[in-house]
Parts: sequence; C-alpha cells; structure tokens
Amino acid sequence: MTAPFGAPKAHYDYLIVGAGFAGSVLAERLASQTGARILLIDRRPHIGGNAYDELNADGILYHKYGPHIFHTNSDQVVDYLSQFTEWRPYEHRVLAVVRGQQVPIPINRTTLNALFGLDLKTDEEAADYLASRAEPVDDIQTSEDVVVNAVGRELYELFFQGYTRKQWGLDPSELDKSVTARIPTRTNTDDRYFTDTFQAMPKDGYTAMFKRMLDNPLIEIRTGVDYRDIREQVDADHLIYTGPIDEYFDFRFGKLPYRSLKFEHRTLEEARHQPVGTVNYPAPDVPYTRISEYKYLTGQEAPVTTITYEYPSAEGDPYYPIPRAENQALFKRYEALADSTPGVTFVGRLATYRYYNMDQIVGQALATFRRMQEAVGATVAA
Ligand SMILES: Cc1cc2nc3c(=O)[nH]c(=O)nc-3n(C[C@H](O)[C@H](O)[C@H](O)COP(=O)(O)OP(=O)(O)OC[C@H]3O[C@@H](n4cnc5c(N)ncnc54)[C@H](O)[C@@H]3O)c2cc1C
Repeated sequence: MTAPFGAPKAHYDYLIVGAGFAGSVLAERLASQTGARILLIDRRPHIGGNAYDELNADGILYHKYGPHIFHTNSDQVVDYLSQFTEWRPYEHRVLAVVRGQQVPIPINRTTLNALFGLDLKTDEEAADYLASRAEPVDDIQTSEDVVVNAVGRELYELFFQGYTRKQWGLDPSELDKSVTARIPTRTNTDDRYFTDTFQAMPKDGYTAMFKRMLDNPLIEIRTGVDYRDIREQVDADHLIYTGPIDEYFDFRFGKLPYRSLKFEHRTLEEARHQPVGTVNYPAPDVPYTRISEYKYLTGQEAPVTTITYEYPSAEGDPYYPIPRAENQALFKRYEALADSTPGVTFVGRLATYRYYNMDQIVGQALATFRRMQEAVGATVAA
C-alpha cells in the first residue's frame, strides 16, 4: 500500500522526478531564474542521485553508488557548479593488476616497459612498439576490433577482454565499437586517467553541493516518493522526468536492457589500502572489476580507510545502458513516444538511455532550461 502523499493539494509549476544532477539543476534554474514553484521528488531516500555521498559509521566520506570523479572541459559547467561548491584539485589515477604487477591504465609507456621488460624512452619508440604489436582490422565493427587493431591481441586479452566480459556480461566482439573506442592508448608517461582541463572534487562532497543548489523556498523536496505512486495526486503544470523512459511508458515496447552493479563498501583498519584511487582487476577469475579508495578522491585524513568493490550484475538498479544496435532501436521507439507526449520534458541519463558523465548531464540540463525559456519567450511574443 502506498502511504498517503500528504494533505492539501498545492499547485506547482513543475513536478520534477529525480533529484540527481538533471533534476536538481533544472529545479535550481527554474526556481532561481523564473520564480517557478517546484516539487522535486526522488524514490531514493536522499537527493544527489548516483552522485550521492555521505559519512559512514566510521566517519569516512564515501560514494554510495561507486566512485564519482568530476572532470570536464566545459567552463560553463564549472562556472555554474562553482556557485554551490568550492573545489579540491584531484587528478584520478588507475592501476590495473596484470600478470601480478600493478601497471598504469590507460596503457602508456610505463605500462609497456613494466609488462614487457622494455626500456622505451620516447613517444616515438613507444608508438613504434605499439605499431609492431597492432593487428590491423579492415572493417572495425566491434569493441574487440578497435583494441586489437590498435594494440594487438595480447594486450587486448590482458587488459580488455576479461574486464569487458565481466563489466558487460558480453564478449567485446559482441559490443558496439563505441564501448572501447573512447579508451586511449598513450605513448608518453602521463598516468592520469582523465586529461580534461578541469579535474577536481566538490570540496565538501556532492551531497553538500546538491543541498546548496536546492536551498530555495520555492523548491519542495520529497524523498522516498515514487512517481508511479503519486502521479494522480500532484497538481503541476509541467512534468520534468529524469527516470527510466521505458518505465514512464509502462514498458509497452519491452524493457530497455541495462547492466547493473553491486557495491560492497568496506572500512579497513589501515590508513591507506592501495597506491591510487582505483585499482582495476581485468582477470576473469576475479569476480569484481575494481576497488576504489575514497580518501584519495576526498583528501580526507583518518586512521581508517573505506574502499568499494564493484561486482557487475545483470540484476539491480539501471546503471549502464547496453550499447547494442537493437537496444538503441528500442530506445528510438520510446523516444518517438516521448516526443509526442505534451507537457513532459525528458532529460538525464535514464530518460535518454545513454551513458553520460556528470558534467555532460549538467550541460544537458542547462541547455534544456535555455530551450524551455526560449519556448516561453516565443509563446509570450506570439
Ligand atoms: C558506477 C558509476 C560510476 C560513475 N562514475 C562517474 C564519474 O566518475 N564521473 C562522472 O562524471 N560520472 C560518473 N558516473 C555517471 C553519473 O552517475 C551520471 O552522469 C549522473 O548520475 C547522471 O545524473 P542523472 O540526474 O541523469 O541521473 P541519476 O543520478 O541516476 O538521477 C536520477 C534519479 O531519478 C530517480 N528516479 C528514477 N525513477 C524515479 C521515479 N519513478 N520516481 C522518483 N524518482 C525516480 C532515481 O532514484 C535517481 O536518483 C558514474 C555512473 C555510475 C553508474
């Protein structure tokens, strides 16, 4: 049974479903820039969506839904978020456990030297070495083709095949080339995971940043509330929906496939557990894909440390849309329905069935706000 949603029916300009980046940015913009009255709901018991962080029982700031590292090339996104947070500079580094060694990933010159007992000294030498291993594929279609073409089969098997099979439950030969096309191989010794111009973490964490964004008397927040249970009870002029698009339409064309993750958070009685923020485990016989240690991300000092194991899973919350042509075709059918549904704006990663980083979602939400403003302006002018 659904608990009563709450007495007197208020009128809202917008009902926003989902208090992650997409929903929260739009709530903030609409309230602060247009004076709109907003009801923002989330079925989880908190705001922040997947970026939610909190102090655990041991006083360590951890990310409930796995490590979230902020990086972007967009000044606009940084300027916008900087209204609600200060930043702590942080460049993420990742090592992969391969043949008993911990080596940098993305593969760089250090990786090649360590793994193959080489002494490559320049970018040119590393490029020549990679070229000598590459196995050209004429017609690149799959993720396997992309990697084998660039670095050859041995590196493909060591770094990508097992990891991808675990992560997606599919062999790279069954996955669209886009999955690994964005993973670079470097000939220099840059061991940063990202190369974006801005790499930093919100100084007091994501949840603190969200709280400041949403601190406006025009925004009413209700957590632990599912849209499906209250949709008949809310009086709002417009709906902004950031949940799963197939669920909105009661799965009428079938379910959009997602890959999920199980997170196992552990606090250890040691100050540091591993040498960098994340260590990947590509080997097929290790059930998890990676371990992340939050104190690197947050800069927190403490005698204990919290780590998270990620176990890919077919069941659970929708995290990664599975990039296959037939899934995209199914999404397009839902998208066509969405386009012909008046009074509803679909925004965010679940409503657009695409993996996006946080900065991309902030950019998407800001662009959506601008479009909504233009539409209002056009109506007023008409
Ligand atoms: C494991 C993992 C690690 C990631 N790491 C990074 C990273 O390092 N850097 C980076 O930039 N990005 C990262 N991301 C991506 C990042 O999480 C997303 O870009 C971001 O969360 C998208 O925001 P959103 O608002 O679209 O979705 P979400 O954050 O998922 O918010 C949507 C919200 O809608 C709510 N909702 C859905 N349906 C309903 C309903 N019917 N009723 C009420 N509420 C509903 C959900 O509970 C959810 O809170 C990662 C993602 C995952 C899965």
